Amino acid sequence: MIQENLDPSDMKSSVFDMAVEQFNAAADVLNLEEGMRQVLSSCKREFTVNFPVVMDNGKVQVFTGHRVQHNMTRGPAKGGIRFHPDVSLDEVKALASWMTWKCAVTNLPYGGGKGGVTCTPRSMSLGEMERLTRRFATEISPLIGSYSDIPAPDVNTDGQTMAWMMDTISMHKGFTEMGIVTGKPIDIGGSLGRTEATGRGVMITAREAAKHIGLNLNGATVVVQGFGNVGYWAAHLLQELGCKIIAASDSGGAISRPSGLDSTELLKQKNSTGTVSGFANCDVITNEELLETSCDILVPAALEQQITGNNASRINTKIIVEGANGPTTPEADKILTDKGTVIIPDILANAGGVVVSYFEWVQNLQRFFWEKDVVDNSLDSILTRSFNEVFSTSQQYKVDMRTAAMVNAIDRVATATNIRGIYP
Ligand code: NAD
Repeated sequence: MIQENLDPSDMKSSVFDMAVEQFNAAADVLNLEEGMRQVLSSCKREFTVNFPVVMDNGKVQVFTGHRVQHNMTRGPAKGGIRFHPDVSLDEVKALASWMTWKCAVTNLPYGGGKGGVTCTPRSMSLGEMERLTRRFATEISPLIGSYSDIPAPDVNTDGQTMAWMMDTISMHKGFTEMGIVTGKPIDIGGSLGRTEATGRGVMITAREAAKHIGLNLNGATVVVQGFGNVGYWAAHLLQELGCKIIAASDSGGAISRPSGLDSTELLKQKNSTGTVSGFANCDVITNEELLETSCDILVPAALEQQITGNNASRINTKIIVEGANGPTTPEADKILTDKGTVIIPDILANAGGVVVSYFEWVQNLQRFFWEKDVVDNSLDSILTRSFNEVFSTSQQYKVDMRTAAMVNAIDRVATATNIRGIYP
């Protein structure tokens, strides 16, 4: 397990149970009737595949992967593909359901999906990764399509992985179908601004929350757990607004420097050594100490269930911006909300990636590509509007931001379900 700081008592319930618990809290606010609750809390399709890959040593290894479509009422399923040793059907179901709510809270014409393969990318060669990706893409291809289900990168998958998926499915079809995946490299139909989009969304939602609580970002202190794609870009863009990054971590370790870390220099170190650990003139701290470092803004940007009933009371920050999906357990949510910590929930805070994926898909379908400032400005206006909608719902119902975001999202999907009716 990479998640070394988990409290076993917090892990009793599954990640999907945690997602359903969050759903029920918002469904209660909406007085959602039982039948609709059942429809919206179930996954529409859960597809598991076991498939062989020839490894570099000539031996065959069988891997297990999943693609889950949680809800497709408002459009095609949209959601990333994760390669990680801890991938399970339970986790993929939770992540697929969060995608439904993420797309609905930002009002994108998508449903939610997610995929993953249980594997250890760190110990696999590039050739093994390519063969695994192409075979997995083939196995899940009955579900995948520009108008049915559109994957994107997630943990340990990137533009290259998406390029292999697009190429594989295009080879089967006999023509190039760009809109089948998003998060592609620019040269094969990717969108400008996609790489940094999730981190940009973290910055935009943090900026909006700071306005509401009167926090001056110039000199505000930031701690980032998980200095990967989301963590780096969030740190970098918050630094551009004047924030000071005082601690960061990845799976190789955690470091702190109260006078501030430079995000660009830290990325150089991470690119050359594979970890932030060992960065010059820093204190070495544990991942637990990192989360408990006193700061103005805490950005968990690693994996789920990091802020738990065990450590929440020691977390000392004004705003938590959930770059990762599901980093805060329901027990921790309650402790932190009671302390007055503002939590910008994952489905809003990290929605920047799917919003720009949506722009990429639109550009692919139209064969017409946008300038970067159009992408960045459109993202800013969608997320600022979504943030303000969630904030006013939280005021209206006197609930925390997570419940408010879920209320807005569930309301949109329930309305669409009612208008369409239950087939037959
Ligand atoms: P990534 O693989 O680029 O980065 C993840 C980082 O977390 C790595 O640096 C890794 O070393 C670190 N990490 C892993 N376990 C850790 C631990 N226990 N403590 C500290 N650091 C740890 O992945 P990413 O794309 O940046 O995704 C990070 C999170 O953001 C995931 O939860 C993902 O689902 C979510 N997310 C990503 C996107 C996106 O567009 N990339 C969009 C929405 C949500």
